[in-house]
Parts: sequence; structure tokens; C-alpha cells
Amino acid sequence: MKRRHVLTAAAALATGASTAAVLRKPTKKPQTSQSTDLASPNIGKNLKQFRLATSWPKDFPGLGVMPNRFAEYVNTMTGGNIEIKVFAAGELVGATEVFDAVSTGAADMYHSAEYYWQGKAKGFSFFTAVPMGFTANEMVGWIKFGGGQELWDKLSAKFNIKAMHAGNTGHQMGGWFKKEINSLEDFKGLKMRMPGIGGEVIRRMGGAAVKLSGGEIYQALQSGAIDATEWVGPWNDYAFGFYREAPYYYGPGFHEPGAALSLGVNLSVWNSLTVTEQAIFKSACRHANDVSLGEYTHENAKALKTLNKEHGIRPRIFPKQVWDKIGRISEDVVAEIGGADKQTQAIYKSYIEARNSYRHWTEISDGAYITARKAALENR
Ligand code: CA
Repeated sequence: MKRRHVLTAAAALATGASTAAVLRKPTKKPQTSQSTDLASPNIGKNLKQFRLATSWPKDFPGLGVMPNRFAEYVNTMTGGNIEIKVFAAGELVGATEVFDAVSTGAADMYHSAEYYWQGKAKGFSFFTAVPMGFTANEMVGWIKFGGGQELWDKLSAKFNIKAMHAGNTGHQMGGWFKKEINSLEDFKGLKMRMPGIGGEVIRRMGGAAVKLSGGEIYQALQSGAIDATEWVGPWNDYAFGFYREAPYYYGPGFHEPGAALSLGVNLSVWNSLTVTEQAIFKSACRHANDVSLGEYTHENAKALKTLNKEHGIRPRIFPKQVWDKIGRISEDVVAEIGGADKQTQAIYKSYIEARNSYRHWTEISDGAYITARKAALENR
């Protein structure tokens, strides 16, 4: 793997790998699921072995363990008949080379985030997260019932891939800032680490979007190369210690309101599976989705408490005028991307109809409940 490719891959990661981890030399024994421990006496009869390449460092909290869970679940449910070896970023191919590897058959499947493939087709972004887009629950609604999976299947099939959601980080945070954000003026000249479509929004707010891999962020904050950064949420952010350099923590993130991760399977491999095996794969993906959401909820809450109690961090919300501007700009940027080509137009049309429909329900259910619960518990 060429170094240039590795660095590009690492820089593109919105949620995952640190450069150091991605650049790690391949280990002699790639990580596997613990499938052999779970094998039943059936093993050997109809044994199928697959290679799963991920975009994540080995065992990276949350992201890195989702594909392991998927592999273990499939192994258990097939009584040991399907064994999936999980390869961390850089072990088989680089972090963002997994798509091409699966497309050509060099790997059987990947675990990654679809917005990394926006260079292949703009429509892929909609299947991870877009600014002002779906929450994690709304994404499931669109994919399963709103026509999302069908549109995704058509897009992925062009690349010889069948993809499904297999994990979600839940809501990400708005980011860490060195200075308080009181008005739109505070975004003028602000150098913020923010990849992808969210970065374009920051640019149109008057700031400068900087692309950095996870491992590069802390030093950039320390040297003053950047004034702010987004990463994931309290759990993953605390691990990097951003609070020491940029203590103003803003939430929620407008750019990744429920980032969905995905499993992409080589289409020939997918078609070679029995109906039962395909059902097990789908079930294992849903399992990974549910468990990751629970894990992020649990771990984010724990980390938020630690940040507050031990480091005095009190999360804030951007002022209303900032949210209003972010909302207007985000809608423009996403609509521009949605008009890229005929297939993306169909995806955007379906997405925006679903988002505009679901939001009314989410606002009067989750949205209203959370606001009311906060007020009621604080006023006891
Ligand atoms: Ca992020």
C-alpha cells in the first residue's frame, strides 16, 4: 500500500482511524473473530471462510469492535459453518481501499462508512449521514420502510456490492472550541477540523475546514494550527484529551446526527449464500446496529460524567442564530450534492421526502419528550 494512499485514507476518516494506527505494519496474525472457539461439530462439513476488511484500527472503541461482533454472531448462528476473519485497516488493504477490494473480490466484505465512497458516487453520503439529516432511528425507518435499501442496492450493485447497515455511532457532538461561540462572527476565520459535507458548511459559515486524521488532531490544537475540532462524542473524544486544549464543548452535531456504519458484501459472495445464510447476515447486521447504539449511549454518558466531574467540562449548545444559519446552509449544500447525477437525484428525493415527513413525528415524540423530561426533572 502506498504511503500517499494511506495518508489520504486516514485524512478522510470522519469517525475512525488514527494515522499511527493506520500506518501500523501488518501483523503476522490478523485479528479474527473468536469463531474457532464457537465452532460446532459441524465445522468442516460445509465450512465457508470469508475475509472482512475494515476501515478501523484494530479493536478501536465502538467502530473497531462492531465487525468482530458481526463475525461472531454469524459464526454462532451458522453453527460454525461460516467463519469470517476480520482485518483491521492496513492489515489487508488501507482504510478507504476496502470498497475497491470488495468490488473486485480481493476481499469478501468490508465494514466501513458509505460517505467515504462519495468520490465514486455522491449518493453514497446519504447512507451514512448528511447535515441536518436523519437521527439513528429515522435512518432505520428510511432504509427499511421508506425505500432507502432499494435505492442503496441499485447504487451498490453498479460496483458489484450488496450493502447493509451494521452499526451506528448515534448522535455525534458539535465539537471542541478554544473560544466560546456567541454569534455568527465567531465562525469567521475559525479553523476547524471537520471532514466531508460538514466541512463545506463550516467553510460557508466563514471558517476554514481542515482535514486531519484522528491521531493528528490533538497536536494541531496544541500548536494552534486549528481552533476547533469535531470527532465523535464524549466516549471517543475523551480518549484523545481534546478538553485540555479546547475546553468549550458544543453539542449536538449538525453534521452527523446518527452516523450509520455499513457492511458491504461482494455481490457474487452474497449470491453464493443460501437464503438462510443471507437471513443470518441481515440479522447479524441488525444486531450490530442495535448493540452499537446501546454501547455508544452507555459509554458516552459515562464519559460525559467524567468530563464534567473530573475536568469541569459543561457541554453547551450553539446559539439559535448559529443553528439557523447552519440549517440554511446545510440544506443548500445537501441539495447541491443531491443534484449531482440522475441516481443521486433519486436518492436525494427519497431522502428529503422521508426526512421532512419523519421530522414532524420525531419532534413531537423524542424531541418534545426530552425537553419536557429535562424541565420536569430540574423543577422537582
Ligand atoms: Ca465525526
